[in-house]
Amino acid sequence: MTAARRPVIGISSYPRTGTPPGFAVPCGYVDAVRLAGGTPIGLPPGDPNPAHYLDLLDGLILTGGGDLDPQTYGGQPHETLYSVSKERDTFELALVRAVLERQDRPILCICRGMQVLNVACGGDLHTHIPDSVENAIYHRRERLCPSEHRATVEPASRLATILGTTDCIVRSWHHQAVRELGRSLRPVAWSEDGVIEAIEHASHAWCFAVQWHPELQLDDPTQQRLFSELVAHSANGRAPAQPR
Ligand code: MN
Repeated sequence: MTAARRPVIGISSYPRTGTPPGFAVPCGYVDAVRLAGGTPIGLPPGDPNPAHYLDLLDGLILTGGGDLDPQTYGGQPHETLYSVSKERDTFELALVRAVLERQDRPILCICRGMQVLNVACGGDLHTHIPDSVENAIYHRRERLCPSEHRATVEPASRLATILGTTDCIVRSWHHQAVRELGRSLRPVAWSEDGVIEAIEHASHAWCFAVQWHPELQLDDPTQQRLFSELVAHSANGRAPAQPR
């Protein structure tokens, strides 16, 4: 018997930026995966057919970041859109579709990642919350400043079981949100203004998405459970390879 290998968790990178250009992975995701006992690996965009990555990984995190190109969900351009990257959109949409085609790779989708999951399943987005949600609370203070708000979790959801609560204070940093839900997606948490704050996939073995930023709340055991459950299920999925 060899010692158990730590589950390898792929973390989607931000788009190319800087001089010379680089692909960044914010530290919070890396730290959270390590705290949970996994080995983090960055996934730079650019490969149009990323399904083969799934053979190298035990689980995935789709990270936050800039806005999806509204063309990906039939939306309209808006002056507040930022950090739009076709290269990143193409990569992540293909990656999440590949995950959904298999049952054996857990995925946690965070903020932008939740929006990518919804669009990949045929849903769409509020392009700018203050324009389309009445009496919206602050989901970010300003472009570079997160906010905190309450999220109420559906008691009968799997997410409530993972978090161990139906009521939490979350760190929020977004100006877009899920509008029409994609296929097989179920809303399981909301903020006080009715914005969908979390979704889970009805048939995939382990596919959850939160609109908030658990990687910015590493001191909160409730939020860290998202990462420990992801890593635990990634280890479970590493059964002997099935003939294909
Ligand atoms: Mn929010």
